[in-house]
Amino acid sequence: MAKRDYYEVLGVSRDASDDDIKHAYRELSKKWHPDVNKAPDAEQKFKEINEAYEVLSDPQKRAQYDQYGQAGMNGAGAGAGGFGNAGGFGGFGNAGGAGGFGGFDDIFSQFFGGGATTQNATAPRQGQDLQYRMDLSFKDAIFGTDTEIQYDRTATCQTCHGSGAAPGTSPVTCHKCHGSGYIEIQRQTPIGIMRTREVCDVCHGTGKEIKDKCPTCNGSGHVQEKHTLKVKVPAGVDDGQQMRLDGQGDAGENGGPYGDLYVVFRVQPSKEFERDGFEIYVTVPITFAQAALGDEINVDTVHGPVTLKVPAGTQSGTNFRLRGKGVPKLQGSGNGDEHVRVQVITPKNMNPKQREALEAFSAAGGDKIKPQEKNLFEKMRDKLRGEE
Ligand SMILES: [Zn+2]
Ligand SMILES: [Zn+2]
Repeated sequence: MAKRDYYEVLGVSRDASDDDIKHAYRELSKKWHPDVNKAPDAEQKFKEINEAYEVLSDPQKRAQYDQYGQAGMNGAGAGAGGFGNAGGFGGFGNAGGAGGFGGFDDIFSQFFGGGATTQNATAPRQGQDLQYRMDLSFKDAIFGTDTEIQYDRTATCQTCHGSGAAPGTSPVTCHKCHGSGYIEIQRQTPIGIMRTREVCDVCHGTGKEIKDKCPTCNGSGHVQEKHTLKVKVPAGVDDGQQMRLDGQGDAGENGGPYGDLYVVFRVQPSKEFERDGFEIYVTVPITFAQAALGDEINVDTVHGPVTLKVPAGTQSGTNFRLRGKGVPKLQGSGNGDEHVRVQVITPKNMNPKQREALEAFSAAGGDKIKPQEKNLFEKMRDKLRGEE
């Protein structure tokens, strides 16, 4: 998922003052608080606003964000040097060596992770969002369908309910870091003693120690599961669109909520119909006589065949609109239309009677046309096709 720019989220310029940012945040969070705002995307917006403020309100994080942008989101190596300085040695990066920065991803995910409650490793965190690609037939995308999907995800362990401790016991405060999740490490180096703050190796940053591990999840609080889910695909979805299913992603940390599942639709094209949004396009061949004299023709639509009146004197390439015969609009506000383009087919191989009639038609109109004799090549070709 591409994240929106944090400055854009708060609607401030890149050189906004701390006061500007604070002010923008207050206004927006008031406006989008899910308790107040009942819009379907209010919660998402609120999260986004908090996440942006979390970063931009902290001078250090803001500087990191300005420098590395969203690369930081993915834990890309670019930001690594900058984050190593927590222990107070200037500008030297985390040269502390292998293992010295094992917690890098953790620190990153705290800085950029999920909203205002990620100040420490022991705070509840929402689980990862997941993505599922769903193939749909042309018709299922138009009319919607009920289906069942299955995918792997991390779930909260049902035996220990996520605590990681064996039934009847509970985790205790980590003896090494006293619950902070971090420890200070001192190292003798050629340029003196360096102090760094690292993720605690006993509790791995959780601040909790499990003496008696849950047998089901071996103390992690999580299990991998094949998750089966009934999905109602709404009518009118289109190729590339996605649908969010709340709480169907990975389990959260420290009792945090599940992440979300994004179902991305991949719609097969149709041989017969062309679709553009809610509109459907077809081309229908008609004869010269139908175009000249007018006729009622059968036209296929995604809703079944309908009759279309072609008025006398219709030109090739004329478009007709079949109202409401297109794709149902999401949120149930009627259908798009089907656009029928008629194409007049010029007869290629007329029998003598047709030819005579057409010559008579031409003569009646006062035309003086000289019908072209077929050349030798055309005669041979027609013979081969058995058309003469
Ligand atoms: Zn468990
Ligand atoms: Zn610890």
